[in-house]
Amino acid sequence: MKIIAIGRNYAAHIEELNNEKPDEPVIFTKPDTAILKNNAPFYYPDFSTDIHHEVEILLRVCKEGKSISPKFAHKYYDAIGLGIDFTARDLQSKAKEKRLPWALAKGFNGSAPISEFVPIEEFKDLKDLNFSLKVNDDVKQQGNTKLMLFSFDEIIVYISKFITLKQGDIIFTGTPEGVGPVQIGDMLEGFIEDKSFFKFDVK
Ligand code: MG
Repeated sequence: MKIIAIGRNYAAHIEELNNEKPDEPVIFTKPDTAILKNNAPFYYPDFSTDIHHEVEILLRVCKEGKSISPKFAHKYYDAIGLGIDFTARDLQSKAKEKRLPWALAKGFNGSAPISEFVPIEEFKDLKDLNFSLKVNDDVKQQGNTKLMLFSFDEIIVYISKFITLKQGDIIFTGTPEGVGPVQIGDMLEGFIEDKSFFKFDVK
């Protein structure tokens, strides 16, 4: 399996500023070794002093497809989860300055904690899903999928033009506002609507 992630995809403030929607999503990948499951703790790495949380809705791909057309895109994911796109912001900032890739800043070990997946039928409207992240019981991020610049279907269509999607692939669909640093000793809990999807410690 592989992990594909969408860069900035929530921009309430872009709408507020009346800016145009960008033409194309920003895509990056994480290796499968980034995954943390079953609420395993995240161990703060020694190569960064500025690890940020980015809570994101996940799509689970359910069949192989390439160059998927918009009208069939919804058939290629069957379940939703919640995860964190941990980002070593210090490494990412250096990479951006030098116009280098984000691979290490986004793809290091443990940078992709993920929840269990829930079948899409169990959600009443995928285009209106509230989700949030609490750090030590304080709400730090809140989002709703209606604020995405690129919808789930648009993301599937776009990625599959370039990269064949396969059953079991996971797509991180972008984070809302409120990203920030985590510290050793923090406890992170993620919710879709009122349901807790993950809860783990930073060690
Ligand atoms: Mg992200």
